[in-house]
Amino acid sequence: MNNQAREVMLDIQGLEVHFETRRGLARAVNDVDLQLYKGERFGLVGESGSGKTTMILALLRMIKTPGFIAGGRAVFDDGTDLLALSPEDVRKNRLRRVAMVPQGAMNSLNPVMRIGQQMALTMREHGEVGTGEEFEARVAKLLDQVGLVPEVADLYPHELSGGMKQRACIAQAISLSPRLILADEPTSALDVVVQRQIMQTLRQLQLQLGATVLLVGHDMGLMAQFAERVGIMYGGKLVEVGSVADVFRNPQHPYTQLLISSIPSFERRGTFQGIPGVGLSLLDSPSGCLFHPRCPQATERCAHVEPGLTQLGPGRQVSCLLYEKEETHAAPS
Ligand code: SF4
Repeated sequence: MNNQAREVMLDIQGLEVHFETRRGLARAVNDVDLQLYKGERFGLVGESGSGKTTMILALLRMIKTPGFIAGGRAVFDDGTDLLALSPEDVRKNRLRRVAMVPQGAMNSLNPVMRIGQQMALTMREHGEVGTGEEFEARVAKLLDQVGLVPEVADLYPHELSGGMKQRACIAQAISLSPRLILADEPTSALDVVVQRQIMQTLRQLQLQLGATVLLVGHDMGLMAQFAERVGIMYGGKLVEVGSVADVFRNPQHPYTQLLISSIPSFERRGTFQGIPGVGLSLLDSPSGCLFHPRCPQATERCAHVEPGLTQLGPGRQVSCLLYEKEETHAAPS
């Protein structure tokens, strides 16, 4: 894929999300730059606590106290900065410009309202107008797009299976044809077969709508099947970006190398390899490279010097001192 030929739809620069805690400030998202292209499927991968979910909540302006967006921009191709919108404009932009497919479908559906009613209500709340019959027809069409029969509109969430509930959530998310769909581990609570079916549906819809999907997750296998490009996050930082094929076949960052070698495979039967050490505490981050206490390739320099993002080729970036030539950023003492 030639990234230079693709149009940037959302340009994220210097995104910072912090949480005030009694023990100090936690930098959950730490100076992230990322460009998302029109109509692409981008996967954001990392262990829990790596900042990937916080990042999409920031784009939706849904960070709750004690968290706050401490800096950065997220600018659409028409010049709109999602991080600078007023609360009223945030509400107007949701579903039309940016929509979210949540992790827990049950928690995002109203348990005492029929599916069709809540879908119509959401559309009305976002300024759509029409008669009851018109909304009924729109709901039926949306349900059909996600592979559900129209009768589902008359059911309550508890009458649906997990996969059907997740499809209903996707139907709701696409109801106003958003340009950017943020999907936070949308299949984590489902069995493998249903997972695959839901991801296929999401992919078909993404192609139909021409939307960009930012999928967050930790399932590397699912990412490899769904995404065109991936970004690897560690400790709130983006440590590697590239096409799925490049990153999976030829991972450059030591953390990515360990993540990929920890995927079970037939070839490596009996030699399962985990990632050494424990996940990073954002309240007690090490100096230098955040990954150095766990990195098998760390040198003495890694404990003192913070790596910047090195461009390895078109669309291929890595944040590791092994690839830096001259430019280094001395960690503050
Ligand atoms: Fe490992 Fe050093 Fe690279 Fe960090 S900078 S990933 S510690 S080799």
